[in-house]
Amino acid sequence: MKHLIVFLLCWLPVIVTGQQQLPILCYHNITVPGTHKNDLLHVDRAQFERQLRTLADSGYHTISPDAAITLLKEGRPIPPRTCIITFDDSHAEHATVAAPLLQHFGLRGVFFVMTVTLNKPRYLSKDQIKTMADQGHVIASHTWDHPHLKLTGVMDWQKQLVEPRQQLEKITGRPVWYFAYPFGEYNDSIIVELKKAGYKAAFQLNRHPTPGNELYTLRRLMVDGNWSGPRLVAAMAVYGTQ
Ligand SMILES: [Zn+2]
Repeated sequence: MKHLIVFLLCWLPVIVTGQQQLPILCYHNITVPGTHKNDLLHVDRAQFERQLRTLADSGYHTISPDAAITLLKEGRPIPPRTCIITFDDSHAEHATVAAPLLQHFGLRGVFFVMTVTLNKPRYLSKDQIKTMADQGHVIASHTWDHPHLKLTGVMDWQKQLVEPRQQLEKITGRPVWYFAYPFGEYNDSIIVELKKAGYKAAFQLNRHPTPGNELYTLRRLMVDGNWSGPRLVAAMAVYGTQ
């Protein structure tokens, strides 16, 4: 019965016309069980593995941002049980825990990296980033040093938007097209700068996308570390319809 409910919930986004039918998950810290309370910014690795296993068992698969954006631009439907799984803030566990688990379940992630932390203790190294890119994960930009973009009067856009993109492209040998707003904060003038810097799309947290700028205000689902796998799948199924 539980499986039937989960299955039906999975199909809801196809039936209900929502603002954004593609669930985009957002993770931050992946922790060692027992070292930190699970919450919106922390999930222990055992719980994370259970969540991924339920996704895979429920028939979910990941779509690349390139493929998703092509569909969204053309106004074509997103296939059922498709999602994007993203990770913010360049934590070392993204390479040591998240990427291998994703691969185990046939999934791929999008990793938003702030370049100020490159090769710093507890953060992603350049080698880890290159390896993840080679494994089919997508490396994307999260500014140089994670500023409050919206709140700062004068911003060095070259340093925060242009140079991180160039640096990550040099590390991965691949184009970097995507951006995540630090703290999920954005406004129209930041979107103008992102377009100037060559980004194709940008990811925020959980506000409704801005009409006319949907690709630069892609909404994400902050995954609660307390959620069981079925609770996550249920949240994904109704996401974008609210
Ligand atoms: Zn961040």
